[in-house]
Amino acid sequence: MLYGGCLCGAIRFEAGGTPFHRTFCHCETCRRSTGAPVVAWFSVPRAQFRFTQGIPGRFRSSAHGTRSFCPQCGSQLTFENDALPQEIDVTTCTLDDPAQLPPQDHTWTRSRLDWVHLADGLPEHDQARPGN
Ligand SMILES: [Zn+2]
Ligand SMILES: [Zn+2]
Repeated sequence: MLYGGCLCGAIRFEAGGTPFHRTFCHCETCRRSTGAPVVAWFSVPRAQFRFTQGIPGRFRSSAHGTRSFCPQCGSQLTFENDALPQEIDVTTCTLDDPAQLPPQDHTWTRSRLDWVHLADGLPEHDQARPGN
């Protein structure tokens, strides 16, 4: 089981199952909604994820996506894609131990900022990962 929460501690979550789609996302929506140049995410089965404390805020971040965040401190927590109702994406760095889930590729690199230089040798996808 994976455990995590927001910066202020108001929101806590747990996630089971085997994490997949561990990625660095370079898209503009992730950037703007977090204030960070790149955001690390992982996915788990939707049925294996639950908030265990607090009630997150939610907003539509695109025509097909909903993001959740802590209404007190603003930490971004999850992304849900209407087209993929069986899975949920979680921000890797809201885990209590993000070191255990290193990203395995880069997505939306067509939006990568010029001053973000990639040298980790991981696969790069111009947009979303093929087949996802
Ligand atoms: Zn918080
Ligand atoms: Zn993104």
